[in-house]
Amino acid sequence: MAIRDSKSPNTYWYQSGVTREDRENMNRHRGIIVWFTGLSASGKSTIAHAVEKELHDKGVRTIVLDGDNVRYGLCGDLGFTDCDRSENLRRIGHVAKLFLEAGVVVLTAFISPFEEDRSRARRMLDRPEDWLEVYCSCPIEVCVSRDQKGLYRRALNGEIPYFTGVNSPYEPPQNPDVTVDTSKLSVSESVKRIIEAFEKRAFFF
Ligand code: ADP
Repeated sequence: MAIRDSKSPNTYWYQSGVTREDRENMNRHRGIIVWFTGLSASGKSTIAHAVEKELHDKGVRTIVLDGDNVRYGLCGDLGFTDCDRSENLRRIGHVAKLFLEAGVVVLTAFISPFEEDRSRARRMLDRPEDWLEVYCSCPIEVCVSRDQKGLYRRALNGEIPYFTGVNSPYEPPQNPDVTVDTSKLSVSESVKRIIEAFEKRAFFF
């Protein structure tokens, strides 16, 4: 499937009279996309939800876009070939941008194995500070040992085609904003590092 990133014919963007700044002023914090990347079982979902809980408790508006959940509907027609993964992330990038316009903190938890797909999502944004890339770095042996869903075992048995780290590549980010080695840091230590990165960006009004 070709990557689609154009618009439908005869359509025009309707500019809302309520701006992102209006919404952010009401929220008393900025919107931002926190893009987690890392191998399956590296801890993306666990940490994204823990960050969400901490922010929510501080009164911050949040949403987690989680790998499996979006494949129940929005991306349920896609598989895991390189091309389908790119299309998956293209859609996620646009959904995340809509939430950003709503002044929400969007936490995306997808393997997102390819640099090009991650940078395409980042390039769609108007300001560099709208994007915080979090690399959940974790040796694959540790991910395999966690294997809560039995996916690595099945992939290593050849039952799952295109499984990242086994029979599909993972390109680590070259310049992530935050790296958390989840084989060494506890969940709360990782959360702390990520929240600190928020605080450095004058996030709260
Ligand atoms: P992913 O979203 O990257 O596939 P998950 O968050 O679904 O990963 O799964 C990671 C698993 O590893 C969870 O069962 C989590 O409890 C466990 N885990 C153990 N130690 C850590 C840690 N230090 N940080 C994050 N997850 C951890």
